[in-house]
Amino acid sequence: MEAARRGASWAVRKLNGVNKNGISSKYRRRYIKWNVLIDAPFLISNQCCFQMKEKQLLQYEKESGKKPIVALLAEESERRRMAYLRTGCNSFDSSRVMSKPLAFWTEQDILWYIVEHDIGIAPPYGSIIKNTDGKLRCTKEQRTGCMFCPVGCHLDGFGKYRRLREYNQQLYDYCMYELGLDFVLKWIKENINCNMN
Ligand code: SF4
Repeated sequence: MEAARRGASWAVRKLNGVNKNGISSKYRRRYIKWNVLIDAPFLISNQCCFQMKEKQLLQYEKESGKKPIVALLAEESERRRMAYLRTGCNSFDSSRVMSKPLAFWTEQDILWYIVEHDIGIAPPYGSIIKNTDGKLRCTKEQRTGCMFCPVGCHLDGFGKYRRLREYNQQLYDYCMYELGLDFVLKWIKENINCNMN
């Protein structure tokens, strides 16, 4: 997206669903729905996680000499799964020494553990219930992470922001009106097919 917004022809072709010869590509057609974001009146970048989180952590590791213990799960992505298979829970030899003690747990393992050991969870998650398929889930947020992050928020009709307002009106106002997310969400509602159910 960032490259397409800079005008890189390979990236624009991708978002237009065509291959390098300008011919419609079945594989690339799935990107067309994001084409509208090329002209969105706000910044979009794949650098967000790096600039907002990883850069500071790397800096701290460098200055303090400390190594991170993180709660990444192998099941979260193919990249994380492959990294786990390469190093196991503790990567002593890789370029970034790190411990991932939860890596072999699945999200379901964690929810079952919480229920079986009656461990308290933070209010934004609500409570844990069982679906009809037997799987556990939280009644409110499934993940918290960056609480203002808009990635994927159109898929559940912007529910995370409604819940944020109920949970903490002050934070909601800060996010919407100080940081300007109100403007971004209005634009998304007008220009992207949102699931408002
Ligand atoms: S706001 Fe979203 S994309 Fe940005 S750092 Fe947080 S989780 Fe990553």
